[in-house]
This record gives sequence, structure tokens and C-alpha cells, in this order.
Amino acid sequence: MDISGGCLCKAVQFSVRDEFSAFHLCHCKQCQKISGAANVANLFIKRDALRWKSGENNISVYTVPGRKISHGFCKTCGCPAPYLDDDATWVVQAGSLDRSPSLAAQDHIFWAERGHWYEAALTAPKCAQGPTDETDVPR
Ligand SMILES: [Zn+2]
Ligand SMILES: [Zn+2]
Repeated sequence: MDISGGCLCKAVQFSVRDEFSAFHLCHCKQCQKISGAANVANLFIKRDALRWKSGENNISVYTVPGRKISHGFCKTCGCPAPYLDDDATWVVQAGSLDRSPSLAAQDHIFWAERGHWYEAALTAPKCAQGPTDETDVPR
């Protein structure tokens, strides 16, 4: 079954088969910069499994010099967008999908470079919505 995905401004929209071959959470320093967060959530899928609905020409791809790390993003809103890892493989950010893929994350890679605030965050209180919501309940 296909999964739709796209960016916040809706310029970039695509559909992808739920047949991902790998799912890595990368904590390297470059991916922290790319995401502004602890890690990126990279799904890999063969090239013919992704179909563009719109916005393919509204994507920029930046490749980090000296490392095999790229960042595809919508030129309008900056959200992550699929990019080619090589001629045969797309990298798709899990958060850009409209529902969860069947494949679970397989590992945390470049763990040695992680932001050390991340592990403490995993055990911090879980709020259903914002931090001041009176109805917050631990999950
Ligand atoms: Zn956008
Ligand atoms: Zn990385």
C-alpha cells in the first residue's frame, strides 16, 4: 500500500510504496545540523517506488563536502524532501510521510556523535500536547 508524503506548504507532494529496505536514525553532527534535532530518520527505497505528485522542481539538495550526507528540502518551507542517495535509491525522511511505514527503525547510527541531551530527553515527562495543557497525561 502506498504512503503519501510532503512538506508543510504542500508544494512538494509524493507517494511511495511501503516497501522500504532500510530505516536508520542518524545522530551524526551533520544530521543534527540538517534536522535541528537529535537525529534524522532516513528511510531508503528503490527509485521506482516513489512517484512525484508535485514539487519535484521545488527541491534543493545540499551535499556536505567530504561526507556522503545530503539534505533535500522544499525551497519554499524548508521541510525535508526525498533526494537520491545514488542513482537507484531515494532517501525519504520518515517525518515527511503522512503515516508510519511498516518497517521499524533498525538502529541508531553515528551514536558516538549524538547530542548528549538526547538520552535524558527520552525519560522526560510525555505530554499529550503542549507543556501547559491541564489534560496532559503520561503515556
Ligand atoms: Zn514546502
Ligand atoms: Zn548523519
